[in-house]
Amino acid sequence: MKYISTRGQAPELTFEEAMLTGLARDGGLYLPAEIPVMTQDEVAALAGLPYEEIAFRVMWPYVNGSFGEGEFKEIIARAYEGFGHDARAPLKQLNENHFLLELFHGPTLAFKDFAMQLIGQLFQVALKRRGDRVTIVGATSGDTGSAAIEAFRGLDAVDVFILFPHGRVSEVQRRQMTTPADSNVHALAVDGDFDDCQAALKDMFNDFDFRDGVKLAGVNSINFARVLAQIVYYFSAAVSLGAPDRKVSFTVPTGNFGDIFAGYLAKRMGLPIDRLVVATNQNDILHRCLSGEGYIKGDTIPSISPSMDIQVSSNFERALYYAYDEDGAAIAQLMDELKNGGFNVSQGAMEALRESFDSGRVSEDETLATIKSTLVHSAELVCPHTAVGIKVAEEHRAANVPMITLATAHPAKFPAAVEEASGEHPPLPSRMSDLYERPERVTRIANDLGALEDHIKRHIAE
Ligand SMILES: *Cc1c(COP(=O)(O)O)cnc(C)c1O
Repeated sequence: MKYISTRGQAPELTFEEAMLTGLARDGGLYLPAEIPVMTQDEVAALAGLPYEEIAFRVMWPYVNGSFGEGEFKEIIARAYEGFGHDARAPLKQLNENHFLLELFHGPTLAFKDFAMQLIGQLFQVALKRRGDRVTIVGATSGDTGSAAIEAFRGLDAVDVFILFPHGRVSEVQRRQMTTPADSNVHALAVDGDFDDCQAALKDMFNDFDFRDGVKLAGVNSINFARVLAQIVYYFSAAVSLGAPDRKVSFTVPTGNFGDIFAGYLAKRMGLPIDRLVVATNQNDILHRCLSGEGYIKGDTIPSISPSMDIQVSSNFERALYYAYDEDGAAIAQLMDELKNGGFNVSQGAMEALRESFDSGRVSEDETLATIKSTLVHSAELVCPHTAVGIKVAEEHRAANVPMITLATAHPAKFPAAVEEASGEHPPLPSRMSDLYERPERVTRIANDLGALEDHIKRHIAE
């Protein structure tokens, strides 16, 4: 499979090259040159298979040519062996026609583990083969950093440095980043806020001497390999509820649009998905856009579902690319307009988006009320992001189409909001109940590019 850029001006790459590169050189995002399609018989045959086997069948056409069949099967097996649930992504019933897809049984208790664990193993195999190594640097407000650390810890072809704002992540999030003992893991508590961490990261990528010197690589959510891993659970969930003979709908708590875009690809691959519903918190640029108000930036307002506090959803560019009939020049123009605050979506593209997507927005009070009502009516304690999804899903439920809401994090990751809403303290799963006793290892560092680059250069393995 070849990969092309959404802006049409970058060289075509293989899967492996697109994965190691991340962002295309024309500023665009990589997509497969053609979306592979599965027949209805092939979809039906997935029912009842182990998650890893479904993962292999769904992802194989995308990676074919970059990895061998046996090699890819081993990569998948290693990626998901550390999950705390044999089903990997189990379904739970909330009421007669509404289901939760639990995506929080990975090592850091959020759905990002599905993609990060896979990408860690893919990087390791590809780099070993090339006799190469890279330095992964990421900035995080919480979930992404711990998922990256868990994915790359102990892999000898990679050093991983994660910048997080000192004093501004939850204790669970911080401990998940500071307690792994592996020598290739480096947690850096920056004296600044999340924007400072992101700005420092961007400056490092623009410092070409540094970038080439340490072989900097990124694994943020625009990396196509991350999107790819997320397609799998749409298939596993839908076939357990009767697809392809029965349609299903999905509601997805959305920030950067990576997770729900994977659902769009599943639909294009032949999975009979009726509606894909975008659920946002008060940071609602996607809901406003899908309601016909244009894609206009606002200020980010902190919320109790912080992993969705995003004003520009980077992966939305991929959906726009298909909505604009794969016209890279049109996308490049829109992204130029975005630099000046926003753009209007053409009528044709709006119609294309509405063929697949609906949307809804949830306030902070509604989020808290939904955590409470889900506990009362369905005996489930859910995290604030999941609650945003459940609320929007209930508004979009159709009588004879099962609705599946993606449960994106474990409630114990956000204990303060969950306890405020429900009166119950969400306990950590027993396999990590000693998190509060494990020793922490972290370097506090000034918000200064020189200091950060110097620290990284001195701490990478030779
Ligand atoms: C990252 C994240 C989201 C948003 O996912 P996107 O792919 O950015 O849309 C939602 N919930 C949780 C818990 C997350 O960590």
